[in-house]
Amino acid sequence: MLVDFVKYSKDVPVIKTDVVVVGGGPAGIAAALSSARNGAKTILVERYGFLGGMATAGLVGPFMTSYSLDGKEQIIKGIFEELVTRMEKQNGAIHPSKVSSGTPYSAFLVYAHNHVTPFESEVLKVVAFEMMEEAGVKLMLHTYFVDVITEGSEVKKVIVVNKSGLQAIEAKVVVDCTGDADVAWASGVPCKKGRDKDGLMQPVSMFFRIRNVDTEKQKEYIAKHPGERPFSEIVAKAKEKGRFPLARDAVLTFATPKKGEALVNVSRLHKINGTIADDLTKAEIEGRKQVMFLLKFFRENIPGLENAELVEVAPQIGIRETRHIIGEYVMTQEDVLESKEFDDVIGLNSFAIDIHDPDGPRGRFEGPRNNKYYEIPYRILVPLKVDNLLVAGRPVSATHEAAGSLRVMPPAFVTGEAAGAAAALAIKNNTIPRRLDYKKLQSVLASQNVVLPKRVLER
Ligand SMILES: Cc1cc2nc3c(=O)[nH]c(=O)nc-3n(C[C@H](O)[C@H](O)[C@H](O)COP(=O)(O)OP(=O)(O)OC[C@H]3O[C@@H](n4cnc5c(N)ncnc54)[C@H](O)[C@@H]3O)c2cc1C
Repeated sequence: MLVDFVKYSKDVPVIKTDVVVVGGGPAGIAAALSSARNGAKTILVERYGFLGGMATAGLVGPFMTSYSLDGKEQIIKGIFEELVTRMEKQNGAIHPSKVSSGTPYSAFLVYAHNHVTPFESEVLKVVAFEMMEEAGVKLMLHTYFVDVITEGSEVKKVIVVNKSGLQAIEAKVVVDCTGDADVAWASGVPCKKGRDKDGLMQPVSMFFRIRNVDTEKQKEYIAKHPGERPFSEIVAKAKEKGRFPLARDAVLTFATPKKGEALVNVSRLHKINGTIADDLTKAEIEGRKQVMFLLKFFRENIPGLENAELVEVAPQIGIRETRHIIGEYVMTQEDVLESKEFDDVIGLNSFAIDIHDPDGPRGRFEGPRNNKYYEIPYRILVPLKVDNLLVAGRPVSATHEAAGSLRVMPPAFVTGEAAGAAAALAIKNNTIPRRLDYKKLQSVLASQNVVLPKRVLER
């Protein structure tokens, strides 16, 4: 394909606000609510007609654990807890306190799968809208982030496009919750992709939802095969006979709150770069082919799935990893595994480093060695080079390994909530996010029911 270039310029209308949050997934939902509730006039830009990101558009679920690794204390609360409680009231979630590992809700996995939160993506969409409306967040749906206008070290305007045409949003602070650091990258923030040795990123997967799942039959099979990854013997035998071409070794079906329904996390495509349109296009097409193959395979081979029927395929391919920004601090696997303490801690997480092998069938799964949790520092939200920008969710400043733990949804809510509060506080205090007094941020977060270490609360 021949590529040519053309210069294009146009006068576009300018919308003014205090904070613009770009991307309405778990991080963006929390960021927008937290910013608006702390007094900042807030706009949330989202490319789809609904919020939730991977939780809705990617049909990903359950919310991974919000508890310590030993399952004893809930360590992620704040906006995450509020959302789950509200969804539960509309029969759209089961509170994590009522969900154990080794059950259909955790796909029968045990380690690091205690107290996950099964939920209904349709209820999440409705509840997220309700919460935005109550907080006074201005939503701009069907609106795609395109570019930035920068001046010195500041993002002066964010350029977006929708059915009304191109528009510029002028904000005092911009929060990038696109999952891919789209705004940060366009603004000149240094970013890194994938693992150190070859830049390969985690594989992508097409989630789908099935019904007519016989969980009793699944349980019987699992009970007879202790210590085995769910249904892995069946998969291994099919592979030997050349009847299972996917790079996966187990069948993971996560029961949802709806009886007999489950979300399937088995599809896998390697070497897809989620920031390249051609790769995304290929993944959407191949991902759907994999779903049809898997459905047939399940019905013919997997106990409990003999009568499984397709309910829906995710609207978009699930992207586990793309860019990681380089921020004021880069979180490492030692920080996660050794539970390093940070003065600027803004929340906790316990989920294991979960790396689906970028070029193989298995992966790595390893949590904090103290069997409890680790601390998330504020500085991983603060990018180098740009002064009025914060980044939350999947692309925070972390190595491939540390991001393997930070990438799941509960910690995305944590970093989003902190970023939103920090954006509003920076404006109130007439400063930039990089110079914000983190103690002020911590006291705001504590007042929002965010769980922080005792030593911070007692200070
Ligand atoms: C296959 C797979 C399985 C997973 N399994 C689990 C699991 O079981 N449990 C769990 O807790 N986590 C799981 N995760 C991880 C988790 O879903 C994501 O990492 C998490 O959703 C990240 O949140 P986020 O808000 O940073 O990004 P996202 O959820 O990706 O949200 C980003 C939002 O920004 C919007 N956006 C992006 N670019 C633009 C743009 N240019 N303009 C406007 N809007 C834009 C998107 O539409 C989206 O709404 C899984 C992920 C994948 C891919």
